[in-house]
Amino acid sequence: MQGYILHTQKVREEDLLVKVLSPKQLYTLYRFYGARHSIIHLGNKIDFYIEKDLREIGKLRDPIHLGFAWEKEMQKRYFWQQFLKLLHTHLKDISTLEDFYFNLLEEGSMRLLKENPKRTILNLYIKLLNFEGRNNSLQSCLICEGILNEEVCITRGFVCAHPHCLKGEILTFSHLENLFNLQIELLEDDEVDKLWNVLMLGL
Ligand SMILES: [Zn+2]
Repeated sequence: MQGYILHTQKVREEDLLVKVLSPKQLYTLYRFYGARHSIIHLGNKIDFYIEKDLREIGKLRDPIHLGFAWEKEMQKRYFWQQFLKLLHTHLKDISTLEDFYFNLLEEGSMRLLKENPKRTILNLYIKLLNFEGRNNSLQSCLICEGILNEEVCITRGFVCAHPHCLKGEILTFSHLENLFNLQIELLEDDEVDKLWNVLMLGL
């Protein structure tokens, strides 16, 4: 089986509880001596199998790191891990999943090879919002429900409002249209930075 490590938590001296996102499940597994092994690390894709007995949680067995060339780039790895941390919080109480989330990470890990990491992850997040029915149509202000003007405030969950109705980052209406239409290559670098800051508030 394959999956992405979304979270690790130390138990006892050297063992870990590991959350692994596979196509259909978000597993919580036990790994003996996991803390010693660099394979069991946030953001890594692994091949593994689960050993089960009746009493305990499954044990993570024989993990193999399925590495990507971009993992050597510190910055890309950092941004990837930030996104997976947020995804872990977002999916915290869920165990059964649609394969959308796994496929999203598959797509991301391919795109990171060639793309700017913040732009890649913004692209993934817009797809996540669309999948979860939370896509923003920029129809109206979240707070007063009035029509949005040229300057738009965007905040956590990429909800939008008038700058006088809500605090957040300010972008122009047309560039937010580009964002929600997945034309992220049309955004300026400083806009990407602003949107990244909003994303870091939570999915
Ligand atoms: Zn308003």
